[in-house]
Amino acid sequence: MKTIYLDNNATTKTDEEVLNTMMPYLLDNYGNPSSIYKIGRENKKAIEDSREKVAQILNCEPNEIYFTSGGSESDNTAIRGIAYSYKNKGNHIITSKIEHPAVLETCKQLEKEGFEVTYIGVNKNGIIDLEELEKSIKSTTILITIMFANNEIGTIEPIKEIGEIARKNNIIFHTDAVQAVGSVKIDVRKLNIDSLSLSAHKFYGPKGIGVLYVKRGIQFNKIINGGHQERNKRAGTENVAGIVGLAKAMDLAYRNLEANNEKVKELRNYYVKQIKEKIPYIKINGDMEKRLPGNSNISFRFIEGEGLLLNLDLKGICASSGSACTSGSLNPSHVLLAIGLPHEIAHGSLRISIGKYNTKEEIDYVIENLVEIVGRLREMSPLWEKFIEEENK
Ligand SMILES: *Cc1c(COP(=O)(O)O)cnc(C)c1O
Repeated sequence: MKTIYLDNNATTKTDEEVLNTMMPYLLDNYGNPSSIYKIGRENKKAIEDSREKVAQILNCEPNEIYFTSGGSESDNTAIRGIAYSYKNKGNHIITSKIEHPAVLETCKQLEKEGFEVTYIGVNKNGIIDLEELEKSIKSTTILITIMFANNEIGTIEPIKEIGEIARKNNIIFHTDAVQAVGSVKIDVRKLNIDSLSLSAHKFYGPKGIGVLYVKRGIQFNKIINGGHQERNKRAGTENVAGIVGLAKAMDLAYRNLEANNEKVKELRNYYVKQIKEKIPYIKINGDMEKRLPGNSNISFRFIEGEGLLLNLDLKGICASSGSACTSGSLNPSHVLLAIGLPHEIAHGSLRISIGKYNTKEEIDYVIENLVEIVGRLREMSPLWEKFIEEENK
């Protein structure tokens, strides 16, 4: 059976062109970039060329780019690093209720260490409440960390406005842009972003490599101690092949941005429209305008997301209910609760995230199977039975 991969917000397939640029750094040019011989020096150069490429795309300086092991490490480093570095100025951090666990768990940890964190809410579409943000600012606020785009419901947040609020109040602004990079144009200067996280595996690059951008002049304590790599800000022998792959994947993503986005968005809109027409009692989650092109998140009433996923898997279809990080636990997604969904509706949600390799045939296959599976699961659901009885009274 063929695998139909529709979980591109969880991770993506590595582009073959990306893999081909990485291979020489694994097989031939495997020297340690800190060494002085040729295959070491050449790797140093490959890293610096990649840093320049990434900086160009984000519109910042190469010395504002730090390579990390991925989005989670970048988030941890930015938030902890900045918090520790500025704790003499204040101990208050503002974030949102819909952040990725890499941000939320780091904030929770900092609370245990004496920092104060405000978690601001979102509207029913998942957009940050800017008024609440402004009101929550105190004289002790040192950091605002709010995601660029949400990984579960795909909403794109008003980053420019948040950046302006932060700038006006002289507060550092970090954004987890892991979902946005590769499908949204990002100019860190224009958007007033002081610090940003991104991760290669969300845009057809390899897993385990990411970037932390930190604007010059902003201090952050180093979190990984050891050697002097990354201008003494992140120890550890550089993942040269990963770094080269990240830069290549980012270059490809931005060179083909409009065409890829157009294609993916068209498939997503087609999927949502068909599901709306063919399946009753559903709820479309998130904002349909301010949204990542490939993301869809739909709640199917009276059934469980886990049951949906298992049945889709039997048909070779990979999707997600809530987020990959919370699946396996029985708690409904914190993002769906934050947009006001009751527990039982949040439980029946399905995230289909479309990528550049998906085809219309695949989407048709998913729609056909989803109609059948939802129908069958509802037939077996006591909630559905009760609902129909009520309807027929
Ligand atoms: C995937 C993701 C992360 C984590 O990135 P990793 O590279 O997997 O550590 C962080 N934030 C968001 C929004 C994500 O989607």
